Amino acid sequence: MKPTGLYIDFPFCVARCAFCGFSVQGYRERPAMRYAAALEKELCLHAKNTEGEHRQITSIYLGGGTPTRYPVELLTRLLSLCREQFHVASDPEISIEAHPATINRANLIPLREAGITRLSIGVQSFSDQQLRGLGRNHTAQEAKEAFRAAREAGFHNIGIDLIYALPNQTVGEWEETLQATIALSPEHIALYALSIEEGTLFHKKNEAGHLSLPSEEEGITFYETARTTLKQAGYAQYEISNFARPGYASRHNLLYWNRGEILAVGLAAHSYLNREHRENTDSLPAYLEQLASDRLPLVNSKTVDLREEEIDKVIFGLRKSEGIPLRFVSHDPALKKTADRLIEDCLIQVEDSRLQLTDKGIHLADEVAVAFL
Ligand code: SF4
Repeated sequence: MKPTGLYIDFPFCVARCAFCGFSVQGYRERPAMRYAAALEKELCLHAKNTEGEHRQITSIYLGGGTPTRYPVELLTRLLSLCREQFHVASDPEISIEAHPATINRANLIPLREAGITRLSIGVQSFSDQQLRGLGRNHTAQEAKEAFRAAREAGFHNIGIDLIYALPNQTVGEWEETLQATIALSPEHIALYALSIEEGTLFHKKNEAGHLSLPSEEEGITFYETARTTLKQAGYAQYEISNFARPGYASRHNLLYWNRGEILAVGLAAHSYLNREHRENTDSLPAYLEQLASDRLPLVNSKTVDLREEEIDKVIFGLRKSEGIPLRFVSHDPALKKTADRLIEDCLIQVEDSRLQLTDKGIHLADEVAVAFL
């Protein structure tokens, strides 16, 4: 059976954050419940269409949006359905993204009992001023309380997500957020540089000249400060944006970077199965309508050939700190030539028969990817 990651998308949130460019909307009971019923239908259709039969689900990821905004009973039922419909491994990693304002002892204990092994808390910052600017409806103190409640509920694998290079942010303030994070001792820390997405409040403010953003050089300083601070605190960097205590790298995310099989269900979900990219509609009415007629809500599918897959494995694999085996490029003259050029430019290096990004290459990872394309 093929090891496969199952991703389930929940496109509803407490409120829209000022920087968020995802396809999400405010949580309202009726559409959220209709959507959940459609998700169940989509899962069953995939299981029936033999996607379920030949696969072993090694990880499940409930993401979005804010899955923890849903009633815990519904999430529990959905996980039971996954176990009924698919061959789920005996020790799956089951992650859920959590917004600090939506978790407390009352829902955390049943979530753990439902088999969730990993919590990824979107804290973003431990500065109240930054949180207000980001449009988050929680304070730094509430995020800390949510983290402690998760520990008390018995979660042993908790991640904290942070954003840096925020408007008016100083390096000192970023260091305070990093130290506050380390003080909680999460097993996993993910860092994202703010990017200004079209259609967001930040985009509008930026266009109007009302957003004071750090320069590219300052952005690099934020990133390097985090790398040094987290390394000193015992976190190993295992991917460009991800750091973990030993043994706590996200198995589900590693599947993506290893170009593994991913079955993704829900609005705007992207699967990669049998060398085929499949894309679900990002329109909620179309999603509900398709599933009401027992049809998969696909809007696009594209098969990639072996060579395209090989190139993807190089590009995605180089995001990981361990890089890729040298043989991924050495058998192909064109890939080898590109690799040699990037080694000459000090963007990648060979270490123990593996190709890895150099410190310079980490900052220019997109250029490295383009070179292989
Ligand atoms: S909670 Fe997450 S998904 Fe929802 S609007 Fe904010 S950033 Fe976007």
